[in-house]
Amino acid sequence: MMEQNPLKYKELAAKAVQDKQLHKALGKMRDKVGRNAVKLYKELPTGAGSREAAKEVRRKIVDNLDVVLETLIESIRARGGHVHLAETDADAVEYCLAVAKRFEVRRVVKGKSMLSEEIRLNDALEAAGIETVETDLGEYIVQLKGEAPSHIIAPAIHYTREQVGELFAEKLGVPYTSDPPTLTAMARKALREKMLTADMGISGGNTACAETGHVTIVSNEGNIRMTSTMPRVHIVLLGIEKVAATLEDHDILLRMLTRAAAGQKISTYVSYVGGPRLDAEPDGPEEFHLVLVDNGRSRILADPDFREVLHCVRCGGCLNVCPVYMSIGGHSYGSPYCGPIGAVFTPLTRGINTCHHLCQGETLCGACKEVCPVDNDLPRMLSLLRSKLADGDRRWNVKPHSRIEKLIFGAWSVVMSHRGLYDALTALARAGQRLLPRRNGWIRHLPGPLGGWTRGRDFPPLAAKSFAQRWARRSTARRGE
Ligand code: SF4
Repeated sequence: MMEQNPLKYKELAAKAVQDKQLHKALGKMRDKVGRNAVKLYKELPTGAGSREAAKEVRRKIVDNLDVVLETLIESIRARGGHVHLAETDADAVEYCLAVAKRFEVRRVVKGKSMLSEEIRLNDALEAAGIETVETDLGEYIVQLKGEAPSHIIAPAIHYTREQVGELFAEKLGVPYTSDPPTLTAMARKALREKMLTADMGISGGNTACAETGHVTIVSNEGNIRMTSTMPRVHIVLLGIEKVAATLEDHDILLRMLTRAAAGQKISTYVSYVGGPRLDAEPDGPEEFHLVLVDNGRSRILADPDFREVLHCVRCGGCLNVCPVYMSIGGHSYGSPYCGPIGAVFTPLTRGINTCHHLCQGETLCGACKEVCPVDNDLPRMLSLLRSKLADGDRRWNVKPHSRIEKLIFGAWSVVMSHRGLYDALTALARAGQRLLPRRNGWIRHLPGPLGGWTRGRDFPPLAAKSFAQRWARRSTARRGE
C-alpha cells in the first residue's frame, strides 16, 4: 500500500486527468453500474424506501456492535471455528503468520480482500517466505503487474484487454491474445494449479451473520469456493463493523450490496462459510479462523459524528458516480479505499492531517450519498473533516492545516456578510477581468494562486450586471407599470 503524500496525490491525479483510456473504462462502469443502482433498489419489495431500510439495519447493528460481535464470536466458536480480535494491523498480520507457521504453509491462495491490503498482509507473508497468490482475476492482474487495486470491486478496471494480453504473455509465457475468454482460461489454468497445491486460503468477507455464525462472500468467478474449501486452513479477514445481527438483516444488506456493487440482483456465487469441515463433509478446511480487525474502527465508533461511516458495506457504488474518482482513478488516493468512502475512512484511520488532501479533493456534489445503498452521508462527513482541518481538533489530534487558508476564508466571510464591501469588490473584479485573456467568452487564465483553477479548464467571467442589480431593475420596472 502506498504512503499518503499530498504531493504524490497531486502528481498522480494530474497524470490521471489526462488518461483518456482510464476515463473510458470508468465511464463504462458509471453507465453500466453507477446509473442503474438506484433503479435496481426501487425494484425491491421495499421500493423507494430500500435505502432507508438498509440504513436503519446498519444503524441498529453499529449502535449495538459490542453485543452483535459477542454473538457472532459465540456462534462461530460453536461451529468449531476460531476467532481472533485484532486491535491493530500488526496484530492481525501476526496472527495470520502464526497460523501459517503452525501449518507449515508454503503457499497461500487469496480471495479478494481490501482489508488485507489495509493491513499489508501480502508483504508480510512474502517476507516470511510464503508464496501469496491472488485468485480474483482483477487482483491477479494487478498482482502480476506489481500494483495495488484501483477500484474496490474492479481492481484492474484501469487496464484494457490488450494490456492484459501483453502482461500474460510476459509473465505467464503464453501466446499474446486480447480475447477475453482465452485470457480468462489462461488465468484459470495458472491459478488452478496454485489452488490445488496451496496450504492456506485467505479471503475477505462481505458480511457475517451473528445469528447463524457464518460469513458471506460474494463473487462472480468461483475462486472463493476453491480458496475457502481446498487448502487445509481458511482464514477470513473481516472489519469489526461488517456484521449483520440476524439472518433477516443479512438478507436485506446482501440484496442491496449486489445491486450497488455490480448492478446485479444477486452475484453468481454467494458462499456461506463459518467452520471447519465436519466429519460427514467431503470438502472444507481442517481449521477455520475468523480475524476481526479493529485497526482504528473503535475510535470511529466512539465518535457519533463519524460513526455513520461504519455503516458502509464496501460496495464501491459511490466510486462509480463520483466525478473526482472518475477523473483521477483509484491509484491517486494511495489507499485501498479510494473514492468518496476512502476520502472519509482513510483520514479517520490514518490521520486527518496526514490525509488532508483526500477529504479536500472531493467536490461535495452529493452524488455518493444519492447512490449509496445505506444512504451514507459522506458529504456531511467530508465537510466535518474539513472543518476540523480548518479549526483543529484535540480529540482527533488535528492541527489547523493552513493559517493562510483560514485567513482567506475569514476575509471571505467578512466580504459575504457586508453588502457594500461585496458590491465594491465585485465591481473591481468586473473591471479587472477585462484585462484577462479569453476563449469563447470564458477566461483562459486567472492570475496568481487562482491560476490553478484555469490550468485544466476555463473560468466563467462575472456577468456585466449582477443578479441583485437585474432584480432591482426588474422590480423598479414592474412598479413603474
Ligand atoms: S459509502 Fe455507500 S456507496 Fe460507498 S462503498 Fe460504502 S456502502 Fe458503498
